[in-house]
Parts: sequence; structure tokens; C-alpha cells
Amino acid sequence: MNRKKIAVLGITGSIGSSTVEVIRQHQDIFEIVLASAHNNHLDLFKYAEEFNIPNLVISNDLKRNNITNIPDNRKLYFGSNQLIELLENIDCDIVINAISGSAGLMSSMTTVRRGIDLALANKESLVMAGHLINNELETSKSKLLPVDSEHSAIFQAIGKSPLSEIKKIILTASGGPFRNLPLDKFKDITLAQTLKHPTWDMGAKITVDSATMMNKGLEVIEAKWLFHKDYEDISAVIHPQSIVHSFIEYVDGSILAQMSSPSMQLPILYALTHPKHIKSNLMKTSIVDLPNLSFEKLEKERYPLYFLAREVGKIGGLLPTIMNSANEAAISLFLKESIKFNQIHQIVQATVEKFENISNPSLNDIILANSSTYEKVKKDYKNLIK
Ligand code: NDP
Ligand code: MG
Repeated sequence: MNRKKIAVLGITGSIGSSTVEVIRQHQDIFEIVLASAHNNHLDLFKYAEEFNIPNLVISNDLKRNNITNIPDNRKLYFGSNQLIELLENIDCDIVINAISGSAGLMSSMTTVRRGIDLALANKESLVMAGHLINNELETSKSKLLPVDSEHSAIFQAIGKSPLSEIKKIILTASGGPFRNLPLDKFKDITLAQTLKHPTWDMGAKITVDSATMMNKGLEVIEAKWLFHKDYEDISAVIHPQSIVHSFIEYVDGSILAQMSSPSMQLPILYALTHPKHIKSNLMKTSIVDLPNLSFEKLEKERYPLYFLAREVGKIGGLLPTIMNSANEAAISLFLKESIKFNQIHQIVQATVEKFENISNPSLNDIILANSSTYEKVKKDYKNLIK
């Protein structure tokens, strides 16, 4: 049997390493034909050796002159343009996009334009350009397969049911590390506290997004584009144990959940094997050993970015790109400890409020607005915070 040819973008990250583990356990059905890293060439080369990967990309062009010890018999490319060129030409069955942030957009667009299946972890692609990706999908042979655990859960629970039978989508959220922190203590939150997520081990950007709950706001927008429901029909609840990965409610009132112990390997595996569930030892969940499951409402005072993202998603146009970009810039400032935790919200809110929106933006509008907002926020952030 031919093995499925996979391109793993962002192989050196958290989703990348979970993908590697899935492929390691199922090498009889999967092979990696292309892998990309941005900076971490050592891990990239290690994986190239282990999985005999023929095409390697280091998307950070600045690394070009500092890399020696290139593995034999491999093609090594530098820069994000080379990555896109490879995606336009390579013989490949599915691309898993595990690049973090807005940098993943062009890879998603290129993959669906070319008609290759896209296993999407990079939710920012849909936040920024969901309308364009969906337009492409109308004529493309691509299948868009969610990797985000909540969206994989919804995808699995919906199965083949028509959209008209689905009444509501209910995303679950762990609540992050500050779920029980008194609100008057938010001004003292440190970077180290923020990076300690209670249930998931993820890259730095999404870990901060989970603490502010921007992540769930981005996921509401992601769900809108993936499942074509109105914002009023997509909500979120706090579920600290991260066992129920999301719910859907059918029009007759029946609610279905998808469950497992928290691990990204399961949604990655399903995205790679869809429409089949295949036999695997990657995940075992013992129902009787599970903690008690609880669900709570999201409070506006605690998680303002979740509510802002919903509003921005509803307005649409270029605004979600502006919000996402301001958030990326604010997080990068927070990771350098140039701003405080609660100033992430201030920066994003102030940026969104100042912006004159345009509807139905082109890819070029999105790319330009993304980089100019990022630069502007990094330069002017002191004027945006109280
Ligand atoms: P990480 O930060 O752990 O990894 C990011 C990957 O992208 C790394 O391989 C990194 O390369 C590469 N990368 C970073 N910057 C760029 C760039 N400018 N251009 C190209 N590649 C780049 O992130 P995660 O794995 O946590 O997240 C990846 C995506 O998956 C995000 O969109 C996130 O929202 C989504 N996601 C993640 C989940 C998780 O559990 N981690 C769950 C659900 C969704 P290098 O390391 O070599 O610098
Ligand atoms: Mg998620």
C-alpha cells in the first residue's frame, strides 16, 4: 500500500512534535515528504535523519549563512518564499500546517489553491482569511481538516449530519491558569505564571492566548468558517478538566460530546486518517479514572479578549486581521516583559477601536494590514496602554 505523503510545516513546535509522534507510531501508513522549521535547524535535521525526509525548509532566511552540517542527500531550502514554491509543486497528499500565528496564512492559502488536503492547526489562517479560504474550497479538491482539538471534536460529532440539523456549537475552554485568581490580582500576573498552563503543553503564543482567553475567541471565529454557523449559535464554556473537547447540540435538543484525555495526538491522527478512525495505541482514556467533569460560564471581567474577539468576528472584514496582529505584537511584548499581562487586552482593544474597517478584504489587503499593524503596535504600544 502507498503511504500517505505528508508535509509537516512547523515540525519543531508543539503540534509539530505531536505530529512526529503520530507518524512515528504509524510509519506503515504515513511518510514525511517535506518538513519546515523557522529557526531550530538541529531538530529539523534530527527528524530528517529519523524519517528520511527529502525536502527541508528553514523559513527564516537569516539562518542561511549560519548553518553547517547539512544532512546528506537532502534538499535544504531557505525562506518563506521557498516554502510556498515547494507547496506549489511537491508531490504530497496532505499538508499539516502547524506554523504559529499569522506566518501560517500563505501556506494554508497555497495548499487549498493547489487542491491538496489541509490539516489545519494554524487557526490564525481562518481568523484572517476565512472568507478567502472558503471561496477557494468551493472549487478546490482540498478537504479542510481541523486539528484544533475543539474543532476536531465538533467535526467528529457532526459526522455526516447536514448543517440544518445542528443548532449550536459549544466550545470548551480549560479556563487557563487564572480561572480562580481574584480579579484585583490580575495586575500582578507574571510571565512565568502565564506560561504554566494547567492541562495543555503548547507553544508560548497559544499558551498566553489561553490565559487571556483570546484563544477561545479565535476559535469561535475558526468555528464559524469551518462549520458555517452564525456567531449566535457558537458559544464557549469553561471546562477545567479538558476531557470534553466540545459539544454540538442538534435541533431536537440532543447534545453530543467528543471526549478523551487531553492530547493533541488524537485530533492530529484523525485529521490525517479522515474519514476513518484507525486502530491506534496513541490514546487510552479510562472512564472510571477520569476526574469529575465540571462546566462554568465565562465571565466578561476575567476574559475580556474572548468577548472582544466575538464582536470583532461578527463585524468581520479586515478587523479580525487587525485584532490578531495587535494580539501577536502585544504577546511578543509581553514575552519580553515590556508590558504587563492585562495590557495585552488594552493594546488589542485600543488598536481595534482606532481602525477603519474595510469589508471583503483581498489577500493582499490582509497581508499588508497584518504586517503594518504589527509594526505599528510594536512601535507605539506605550501610547496604547493606560
Ligand atoms: P510552537 O510555537 O510550539 O511552534 C511553532 C512552529 O512554527 C515551530 O516549528 C516554529 O519553528 C515555526 N515558526 C515560528 N515562526 C514562524 C514563521 N514566522 N514562519 C514559519 N514558521 C514559523 O506553536 P504550537 O505548535 O503551539 O502552535 C502552532 C499552531 O497550532 C498555532 O496556530 C496554534 O494556535 C495551533 N494550535 C496549537 C495547539 C497546541 O496544543 N500547541 C492546539 C491547537 C492549535 P522554530 O521552532 O524552528 O522556530
Ligand atoms: Mg483549541
